[in-house]
Amino acid sequence: MIIDSHAHYEPRMLDLPGMIEKLDAAGVDKVALIPCINDLLPETPERLLALARTLSRSALTRPLVERIHRALLTPEGDLKLSGQVISVYARPDNESVARACEAHPDRLLGWMFLNPRNNPTVLDELEALRVRTNMIGVKLHPHWHDYRTGIAMPLLRRAEELGLPVLIHLGFGPRGDYRAICSAFPKLRVIAAHAGVPFYDDLWRHAKDHPNLFVDLSSPYIDEPLARAAVRALGAHRCLYGTDAPYGFHDADGSYDYGAIRGWVERMPLTTSERERVLAGNAAELLGIG
Ligand SMILES: [Zn+2]
Repeated sequence: MIIDSHAHYEPRMLDLPGMIEKLDAAGVDKVALIPCINDLLPETPERLLALARTLSRSALTRPLVERIHRALLTPEGDLKLSGQVISVYARPDNESVARACEAHPDRLLGWMFLNPRNNPTVLDELEALRVRTNMIGVKLHPHWHDYRTGIAMPLLRRAEELGLPVLIHLGFGPRGDYRAICSAFPKLRVIAAHAGVPFYDDLWRHAKDHPNLFVDLSSPYIDEPLARAAVRALGAHRCLYGTDAPYGFHDADGSYDYGAIRGWVERMPLTTSERERVLAGNAAELLGIG
């Protein structure tokens, strides 16, 4: 069994029939989908991603990466990259994911992508979405939605009450205060996206005292050595296979390459049962897949 805990529904790159075909070919049993958050953007060159990883891993140089990120934001909260403005969606289209889940309830699960910034009805959105087929948890992106995680506390409290896990792409500093979240909600299962970007080792160390903190191993935000380091630091029981598909890794024909991150996991020095946990068991438990 293989469960992809972090992928996007991005029909402008991969439509629903195309996705199901790719999943069949790759032997992926289930995928937890997130609606897209932005207009399609040019792929970030690997050398820049590698530089961001290296600088982010030390608390001393992490502020440099934050400064670069802030320089790319417009006052409206969009991104400007090489003279082009890329829209960031304040309200990601959860309806598209809910419908995809309804069409393929045996394969697809949905993350409810919520944004508490300037949003007095965010708790109502959660209540309306959580009753839809296979909506299994809350996705937050304080990094690109650009808010301090303090304002997400009421939403996180409700998720904890409901037993819903939260997948969070942490921002810098107060936009990614995983320490405050883990302390305030010890029963909330928190999955830090992309191995805990941008905190990595600091977050892994913190997880030692906080058994409710997990990471996914998705996206070219990380690479094979970093994924391996995360599993070594946290243990296999706290790491979830994920892809960030269809962004990132491409096949020879330009479509998404499901083998890339799977290869990282398959090459890790793990026992069979540890590998099974990373590829499916942890996600099955956290996402409530029976
Ligand atoms: Zn993602």
